[in-house]
Amino acid sequence: MKKKYFRINYTALLVFLISLNIIHSKDNSLVESNNWGYSYGDLLVQLDEWNASPWVTIDSIGASVQNRTLWELTLTDTIQSDDPKQTVYMHVRTHPNEIQSFWVANEFINQLLLDDPFSQEMRKKCTFYIVPMYNPDGVELGYPRQNANEIDIESNWSTEPMEPEPTALKQRFIDLMNSDQPIRIALNMHAAYNGNPRYFVYHHENGTSVEYSQLEQEFIGGVGSYYSTGIGPWDTFVSWTSGTPSQYPESWFWSNHGADVMALTYEDWNSDDAGNYDSTANALLHGINEYLMNHNISTILEESQFPKAFSLKTNYPNPFNSTTTIRYALYEKSMVSLSIFNSNGQLIETLVNANQGIGEYLIQWNSAQVPSGIYLYQLNTSTSTETRKMTILK
Ligand SMILES: [Zn+2]
Repeated sequence: MKKKYFRINYTALLVFLISLNIIHSKDNSLVESNNWGYSYGDLLVQLDEWNASPWVTIDSIGASVQNRTLWELTLTDTIQSDDPKQTVYMHVRTHPNEIQSFWVANEFINQLLLDDPFSQEMRKKCTFYIVPMYNPDGVELGYPRQNANEIDIESNWSTEPMEPEPTALKQRFIDLMNSDQPIRIALNMHAAYNGNPRYFVYHHENGTSVEYSQLEQEFIGGVGSYYSTGIGPWDTFVSWTSGTPSQYPESWFWSNHGADVMALTYEDWNSDDAGNYDSTANALLHGINEYLMNHNISTILEESQFPKAFSLKTNYPNPFNSTTTIRYALYEKSMVSLSIFNSNGQLIETLVNANQGIGEYLIQWNSAQVPSGIYLYQLNTSTSTETRKMTILK
């Protein structure tokens, strides 16, 4: 017992000192071997710096196994703003030792915060969501690839139940894909051992479609054209030649949203000699811009293989005491039902049961007749169903 007591305190002290930046990762070989040169504490300091920018907000998408926050940075201009905006998602450092993926993301963010016309334009056109440290426990434990449960969360997407980190990220993807500004480009940032040149993991048409594989070639070629000496052509690394795997985040995007989302893994060079992160970030930004210009969001919404019948929003307020408002938008005329269920799945009340036309609907619900607790509201149309949670606190 005594031994355990001291061990816990030592760990807590170390985490505390790192968070204060008294022990800086780069100055301490013990810590460096534990976090591959950039710790969770380093990230907290950096998040504070980014947060000082008017273009940045910082939120949490959930927590890791050891309850570290999974931070998400939102980078956009909300004043000079296109409508709709194009959404770009980036998650970084699934594999803790692939630190180069973070340095690329770091440059990507820094360039987006510049005051030059290109960065201004990108902030106006796009919303960038970036999770800079998707596996903070692995980073702090010094694991090369795993989370605190020693699971590789990169390939955990077809497991039931999924680990907490992919569970949080998947929920975020679902929420954004159901919003009126769905993700257009999703980049999964890694670094490979023998990764010279840098490359994207290309998904062969056998695992996707002819149309999508051509879009991938266009995207990868577009990015590469801005850094042709550093980033390899689309066929540098070809995967999914014998079908569609189910375990990756890109598998989830492909199965649920097809060609609507350009979801790719990027592999930087996993070596101290890698460098040129600014050139890579610059190429990524210009490639993203070109792709989004060629594939306008309005056209995508019209031509989608997965047309959405509606979008259901989170009720407001939530949690609530007596009354809340449920908001949804219909994109096609349909028979609609909106019902409330308790956490045992028993029907409490049906709020809507009618034929409704295209438009936005606000439905109020008064919970006077039911006790505190978690409830579900479900929207059904003739082609789709969605259920969301809400909490009554009396
Ligand atoms: Zn990796």
